[in-house]
Amino acid sequence: MAGGLTRFVYCASQISAMVLLIAVLAALPVTAQNSSVQTAARKNSTKDVSRDSSKPKLVVILVVDQMRGDYVDKFQQQWTGGLKRLVDEGAWFHEAAYPYGSTETCVGHSTISTGAFPASHGMIGNEWWDREQNKEVTCTADPSVKNIAYEGSAAPGGGDPTGSAHGVMSNNGPNSAGDSAVKMLIPAFAEELKFQSGAGTRVVAMSLKARAAITLAGHQADSVTWWDGATGLWQTSSAYPQAPFIAEFVKLHPIKEDYGKTWAPLLPESAYLYDKTAVNPGSPTGYGAEFPHPLRGGPDSKGPDRAFYLQWATSPYAETYLAHMAENVVDKLKLGSGPGTDFLSVSFSSVDYVGHSFGPRSWEVQDELARLDRDLGEFFTHLDKTVGLGKYVVAFSSDHGVAPVPEDLRKTGVDAGRLNVEEVRNRIEQTLEPLHYTKPSVSKIDGANVYFTPDTYAKLKSDAHALQAVIDAIQSAPGVARVYQAEEVDDRPATRNPMRDAEAAGFFKSRSGDLLIVPKPYWIWDYSAPGKPGRNGGTSHGTPYFYDQRVPVILMGVGIRRGKYYGPATPGDIAPTLATLCGITLATHEGRTLAEALEGSQSKPGPASSQTRSTSDANASSDR
Ligand SMILES: [Zn+2]
Repeated sequence: MAGGLTRFVYCASQISAMVLLIAVLAALPVTAQNSSVQTAARKNSTKDVSRDSSKPKLVVILVVDQMRGDYVDKFQQQWTGGLKRLVDEGAWFHEAAYPYGSTETCVGHSTISTGAFPASHGMIGNEWWDREQNKEVTCTADPSVKNIAYEGSAAPGGGDPTGSAHGVMSNNGPNSAGDSAVKMLIPAFAEELKFQSGAGTRVVAMSLKARAAITLAGHQADSVTWWDGATGLWQTSSAYPQAPFIAEFVKLHPIKEDYGKTWAPLLPESAYLYDKTAVNPGSPTGYGAEFPHPLRGGPDSKGPDRAFYLQWATSPYAETYLAHMAENVVDKLKLGSGPGTDFLSVSFSSVDYVGHSFGPRSWEVQDELARLDRDLGEFFTHLDKTVGLGKYVVAFSSDHGVAPVPEDLRKTGVDAGRLNVEEVRNRIEQTLEPLHYTKPSVSKIDGANVYFTPDTYAKLKSDAHALQAVIDAIQSAPGVARVYQAEEVDDRPATRNPMRDAEAAGFFKSRSGDLLIVPKPYWIWDYSAPGKPGRNGGTSHGTPYFYDQRVPVILMGVGIRRGKYYGPATPGDIAPTLATLCGITLATHEGRTLAEALEGSQSKPGPASSQTRSTSDANASSDR
């Protein structure tokens, strides 16, 4: 009750601040640039919703999957294009971080798009155990829709070449349904923009990953496109219209044209930090531990095969392809030139695949970003020409960071490792067997979430001795820091325990586990068979530690005051800030408008609320 009231007061104050801000903006003298924009807008239309020149003609959300916040600090001297422009011309929120523990792709993208956290939007992971269906589902699984490929027949199940939350290079996920945003419980900013601005707004999103493109666009859109790593086909689903401009683009630009190419370093060798050879990489078939990487498929490959598609996804060619696809959509739909404010979102997945394979200290990650920098430079120049400088706004962020490769860090003497999920499961079963619990007692362990078989958890809750024995057994597994019961994090007021609060912000009762496991710092989830830890190599993310939570948040363009901001921020602040810029209202959000970065605002960063605080202090005790 008290929590609900607090949220209402919080939102009401946000709305009144927004009204005030709009009034302040309206009263400001127009700059020379604004007046020319206004003149042009007056010429174009007298009725359109965007005749107010302080509103963007195009909102662009760019997400780089698995881009750690500190990559900007460490690698920006390698950039000359779009990433450099974001840093130089944008409002960079240096301390931005997710405040929850489930730092995964679906969760981060849903947070960026809605301005809310998983406890509200419901996307608690890339996949979770569905207790009613008694099976694992992906976050975008929707049995009521069908996936539709732009060429050939679409594969079901999310179209992710890794197919998994866990960075394990397997194929399609457990989902045999089509994909939509049906499981995202509140609207995306893009949906609100279209609904509140009118039919003039077009909404387009694209990514290699279904869970990225779909969550950024929302439940309905003009075009949502993702890629199936098993077949190499671009697709959408019956939840969205089929877009002729995407069909035409993929026909004209077959991915197979990249077959046989070799990915070699772009920059002079002296420009890269760290060692050329990756430590214990988990790289795709056909890739070695250092450059160059040939895109020639499996050992017996005679043409584009599954191994080639995984290599392609784990290469800069995929990002260049997406950037060109986005430019093409801007041209074909004349985005930013219509009567309303248009929306375009692109999520680049390859840094994630490269990072999982080679780790955050690899030449490969640096090279991937250096090439993305070039691609984004070209993309922004294209927007300058087509939409117009000063007429669009870009929000740039990431869905999560990543841990170092444990074996790489361990060389320094720091404790790091792989928390074996099957070993945890065996410990639970071995503990409960002599206590006369039906075997198996565990339905699924999905990252942090332990789901017991039906009735087992109810029985455990009235059997304090058995429950404590299970918690002790999990806690004694190598790499486990803490175990929480669902009841400890469900709908409780914020505490002074940051780890518990991070678990609470990521908790959604019907979807989250009965128990939640928090690994020790620098321990990553390992899904290999027990006794063979580390078989997969590479690294991962998905914990409440700062290396997984901290990501860039950079805003650039119309209405944005450039600068470096050190106050608390989260990627959940992006949607409320864009809503303020566009003059619309989000029904619910936990993020705040980043008023200090808005032109004409008198705002200074306010005191951090419990939900938007920086987690740097939060992790000081446990992160090393
Ligand atoms: Zn990942």
